[in-house]
Amino acid sequence: MRLKSKVVLVTGAGRGIGRAIAKLFAQEGAKVVINYSKSESEAASLAKEIEEIGGESLLVKADVSKSDQVKEMVKRVIDRFGRIDVLVNNAGVLFPASFLDSTEDMWNRTIDVNLKGAYLCSKEVAPIMLSQRKGKVINIASVCGLAQHSALGNTPYAVSKAGLIGLTRSLAVNLGPYINVNAIAPGVIDTDMVSFFTPERKRMIIEETLLKRVGRPEEVAKVALFLASEESDFITGEVITVSGGRGMR
Ligand code: NAP
Repeated sequence: MRLKSKVVLVTGAGRGIGRAIAKLFAQEGAKVVINYSKSESEAASLAKEIEEIGGESLLVKADVSKSDQVKEMVKRVIDRFGRIDVLVNNAGVLFPASFLDSTEDMWNRTIDVNLKGAYLCSKEVAPIMLSQRKGKVINIASVCGLAQHSALGNTPYAVSKAGLIGLTRSLAVNLGPYINVNAIAPGVIDTDMVSFFTPERKRMIIEETLLKRVGRPEEVAKVALFLASEESDFITGEVITVSGGRGMR
């Protein structure tokens, strides 16, 4: 029970990595706010799973790229639980298109959700954490956002994740000493987001990965648990890569 009684807000928690994080955190005793924008039935089924293990959750529909919806979401969390201990900025989108095929709409939506969404949620939650004199923010970035991997992935996505890593460091500077802000940079993780990969592309990725497989959402969740727990109390402004050693040779 490493998160006993902590209140955790996970954006995009209905599916994929966010769902695995929300579930693991609930298993560790946290009260989990399950944010979703479209996946209502998936979010509701997660709330049911959490209830079945004796946990507590709150479902909140909000598009993280819209400031009015983010404000309303945070207000609902405070009305229900009175505090927020951990924010996981996980919500993300990826439009499969090469640079030349990408459109202005794809660029705008990717930056709005992946980068502005994390900014808006952090801006709304930070004053609450500062008043508590404690809090943790965890941003789910990507190896695509790291300089050594920036050729991976498509352009708007890679830029949004590089920006998210920049946001992580900027928030760590601005919100210390009370709030720890860190990022996780996953490699390829088996979720809906990468379901468009062709078998050939998957084979190449596995070939480039030292551990010779793709990752599972639960493997990212375990690192998020470390960053949410007191075991990481002296870590801030860092990026932890969870990629099975992709692109190291
Ligand atoms: P996924 O299965 O496609 O899930 C994406 C999640 O983001 C969904 O829960 C979705 O919720 C939510 N979301 C999208 N737009 C949103 C919005 N405007 N407001 C609120 N929620 C929104 O993908 P995933 O792999 O779990 O991705 C989770 C995070 O990990 C993303 O930030 C992604 O970039 C990052 N990541 C993934 C991989 C990978 O290989 N899978 C690698 C590196 C990083 P709704 O369905 O309700 O919209």
